Amino acid sequence: MVLLRRVSVAGAIVIVAAVVGTLLARELVGGGERASLTVTVAGRSAHVVEGTTLAGAAARFGLHLRAGDVLDVNGKVLRAGAVPGRFLLDGRPASAGMRLRSGDRITVVDGHDRREPLVRRIVRVSGGMPSDPQFTVSRTPGEQVIVSGALSHELVSVRFRSSGPARVERAVALTFDDGPSPQYTPRILAALTKLRVRATFFVIGYLAEANPDLVRQELRLGMTVGNHSYNHPQVPPFARLPPQLLRDEIALGEQILSRLGARPHLFRPPGGSTSPGLVRATAALGQRVVLWSLDPADWSPGSSAKEITKRVLAAVRPGSIVILHDGGGDRTATLTALPAIVRGIRHRGLQLVALTAKPPKPQNATGHP
Ligand SMILES: [Zn+2]
Repeated sequence: MVLLRRVSVAGAIVIVAAVVGTLLARELVGGGERASLTVTVAGRSAHVVEGTTLAGAAARFGLHLRAGDVLDVNGKVLRAGAVPGRFLLDGRPASAGMRLRSGDRITVVDGHDRREPLVRRIVRVSGGMPSDPQFTVSRTPGEQVIVSGALSHELVSVRFRSSGPARVERAVALTFDDGPSPQYTPRILAALTKLRVRATFFVIGYLAEANPDLVRQELRLGMTVGNHSYNHPQVPPFARLPPQLLRDEIALGEQILSRLGARPHLFRPPGGSTSPGLVRATAALGQRVVLWSLDPADWSPGSSAKEITKRVLAAVRPGSIVILHDGGGDRTATLTALPAIVRGIRHRGLQLVALTAKPPKPQNATGHP
């Protein structure tokens, strides 16, 4: 009994000593009840208790992951915070529940803004496409390569790939610039109606604003109404205007016409001033540049009706786009010349047409991501 008791006491002392020693050791290394690990958190050395998870360490050290946004092709936020940040453990992605080991390195990687992916589509153009800039009444067969944002469907680019030579129509387009004019436009409309001709009017924005009923009358009579800029600036040449001003002139002219119900999306730059940059800027606004192939100089103060007629009939051919004017000066000669011009063109077996800008109908569209 005595021996046993001694042993018991001795054993108890040993056990107590061992327990105290362990507790002391744990106190020394961890400051807690479990062992401590040394890890690197965002570049700094730190201690965590054994069993700490990645998420636990993130919470304890106040690590925040900034999420990035998904942007559309124009840089607008499409899905805020949709690109999450993440933690890396020793440079590798790790799950939040992963337990840390001594020497682990935790890195915070914020989510970066990401642009939406692009998709590319091929659309066969039935009937072909007019050229841009357009000089004649003709269409080129081919297909459109359309690139747009996969999520926003915002257009990035449209490129036309021709698959053959342009087909010139047996048609002529009479176009009238610089109106509407209260003095001449009604008379020119009356003459065209009497001759049963549909023509195209490229109107100046501020004049359309001042004479909206004339634009409505043009539309009612089946004429096409196109955009000829808002102010008709000519100095410097239109294509050399500062880009923002150039875009504003086109966009403002188009706004006036849209309000009046005209949506042909055809633009004729003042003075016919063009450049690749102008064509691109116009296309970006959803419009096509229309120029001409035949200028009988009715704008020249000395031109008589006879001379205007002669110049048109001497040069007209299938596909001609003829530039005339219903504003910007005395248009008596133009008005007087119209019946002979129309008769002469028809006599050559050519039809008189108004220009159109119908969007091509998608046909056999095939997705090519
Ligand atoms: Zn003009």
